[in-house]
Amino acid sequence: MNEVQRPWYETTMRWGQTNLTEIDPERYDHEHWERQWTRTSVDGIIVNAGGIVAYYPSEHPLHHRSPYLGDRDLFGEIVDRARGLDLTVVARMDCNRAGERFFAEKPHWFCVDAAGVPYRAAGRYISCIHSPYYDEYIPEILAEVIDRYRPDGFADNSWSGLSRDRICYCRYCSASFTQRAGAPLPHAHDWSSPVYREWIAWNYDRRIEIWDRFNEVTRRHGGTHCLWIGMNSAQMESQSANFRDLGRIVQRTPLVFIDHQRRMPETGFQANSHTGKLVHDLMGWRGQAAESMAMYNHYMPSFRTASAPEPEARMWAVSGMAGGILPWWHHIGSAHRDRRQYEIAPPLWSWHQGAQRYLVDRQPVANVGVLWSQHSFDVYGRDDARMVAESPYEGMVQALLRERLTYRPVHTSRLADVLGELDVLILANVGSVSAHDADLISEFVRRGGGLVLTGESGLYDEEGTRREDFVFAELMGATALHRHHGDRRLPETSWEVSPAHTYLELLRPGRSESQSHPLLDGFESTDQIPFGGRLECVKVTTGRAVATLVTPYPAYPPETAWQREPATALPAAIVNEPGSGRVVSLPADLDRCFGRGLQPDHARVLGNAVRWAARQRIPVTYEGAGTVDLHLYRQGDRLVLHLVNLSAAGAWRMPMHEDIPIGPLRVLIDAETAGVDWSDQPLQARALVSGLELAKSSTRAGIELELPRLVDHEVVTVEPQ
Ligand SMILES: [Zn+2]
Repeated sequence: MNEVQRPWYETTMRWGQTNLTEIDPERYDHEHWERQWTRTSVDGIIVNAGGIVAYYPSEHPLHHRSPYLGDRDLFGEIVDRARGLDLTVVARMDCNRAGERFFAEKPHWFCVDAAGVPYRAAGRYISCIHSPYYDEYIPEILAEVIDRYRPDGFADNSWSGLSRDRICYCRYCSASFTQRAGAPLPHAHDWSSPVYREWIAWNYDRRIEIWDRFNEVTRRHGGTHCLWIGMNSAQMESQSANFRDLGRIVQRTPLVFIDHQRRMPETGFQANSHTGKLVHDLMGWRGQAAESMAMYNHYMPSFRTASAPEPEARMWAVSGMAGGILPWWHHIGSAHRDRRQYEIAPPLWSWHQGAQRYLVDRQPVANVGVLWSQHSFDVYGRDDARMVAESPYEGMVQALLRERLTYRPVHTSRLADVLGELDVLILANVGSVSAHDADLISEFVRRGGGLVLTGESGLYDEEGTRREDFVFAELMGATALHRHHGDRRLPETSWEVSPAHTYLELLRPGRSESQSHPLLDGFESTDQIPFGGRLECVKVTTGRAVATLVTPYPAYPPETAWQREPATALPAAIVNEPGSGRVVSLPADLDRCFGRGLQPDHARVLGNAVRWAARQRIPVTYEGAGTVDLHLYRQGDRLVLHLVNLSAAGAWRMPMHEDIPIGPLRVLIDAETAGVDWSDQPLQARALVSGLELAKSSTRAGIELELPRLVDHEVVTVEPQ
């Protein structure tokens, strides 16, 4: 199929969005925004059509028009301008709220609490996703917009209805749930109740039903390629709170719209490359994922009309590009006192246009997979899922980054397909693992795969019920004791009581180098490292403990800060070699601890665990001072390498104020693990940001590249000349 025939969702590589506010019909400047579209080389725009506020003269009596619209059709005018420049047009909807007039006409379409009192947000009423508002009203609006304007597709901002923290008791919810569950709606959030768990499943299913229903409507009215795409995020917490099952959603659309507009303090810029890789793992690397990126000041607190600090917005965008995300600039409102925000996107978006063929349609080269389980987040994490289930994952991937190890996120639904491409699978406290997935993983290990498990991984079944023993007990060479030591949260206490003043004793029989396990590499000068976290108590069976817990002792006054008791026999790290595989289990939650405290010792143990389990097979790493988010891809007979410089202090405490260049860096690519053998061929290594031709050397064992300087990011293509 040639370029002309390919549908818009495959060919639109850069996006722009002026998110209209109610006043904008009075002040929207077409010339200004057309110029911005051109300066940023966008292929498509997202423009507000309707939902909460309509920007066109809708025929529907309840569709609230902007009070400033008058006789204008601002949406239609913008569509015409964009069409004049041959741009893709996506109509933006915002489905989930309405005002007084709508509520007065259709009170039953809105969410209510158990007493029948409507749930409200910012003075508006929240439409119920189980009501005809979604089944009838929104489809009518979608049809109206298509019939009049023929947009290429739709984006929907807050499409997924009432969030999980509240239960709607409207007549539609009541009838639908009772029909499905044979029981009335749950009275409270109680994960131990099967009815509540059914309510969760019913809610997830309804979002999928709505996704399919809206797409059926848009395709019927607008043709096969007229897609409706709701916004999603790759944060487990946000997806679960809104009943959006990332796996099921991404697998039913060729284009994903991501609403993750800025960096969060705890996950950093690298969260954006992670998002791109996770979404592409689910949809395939030929599919596209575009992300709304704030050009406004979206930090703490947010200033919706002020400019983002330029380095901060740029770094977020380049981190996304490293994960294959397509850039999409986003401004709130069409006129601003702070015009600096218009200057952020043009250079980077234009660079993207020049480099785009290297930035999409490629395969990640990574032999380490980290299992991403939204299901475990829900049924195991339950009411404290962020702390229980997501923070260990975040800490683990942060540690891998610091240890200069690359990885790929693996969604649970992709396990069977991906395991064959991995040397190591990591379960960062994935408590709930189905028997089916456990079988796949066990088979992988027995055939020689590596497995790194932390915390309670595999101790719970698919329903989130605690098993009698770890489903991986045999692989771990350890058995559950069903108790734990310490806490997930750092206790907020003074030094006067020190429950988290714990350590790990490193076990070296006879203290001999030869008997020290590689898990302890780098700790030759110490017998203990700090801990301070939660340890799941286990008993070793066939495995070998290489570290044990030292229980708390006083921290203050200093005269009392000495270890009273010898180290316990409670293992904190266990190694085992079942079949021809290698397993490291870490009952000590070093992943969660690292996410919160960034202790180098914790990252080192995690890194050692992965290196040992991978038999030291590392596809790509780097040498030189600095911290780099590194990604390697294969694209036909070419390697594409991304480096994002995370060395500035501002990369670890937002926002970024300035770039701090590093270099030189030596990048080492292991030819066999990367799947290339170019030892006899002259190579070309081009840096697409700096424009440099890089010094390189190639042997059968690997390729070495010398990057003299890294400012913010670099993309290097390596291929035979
Ligand atoms: Zn309802």
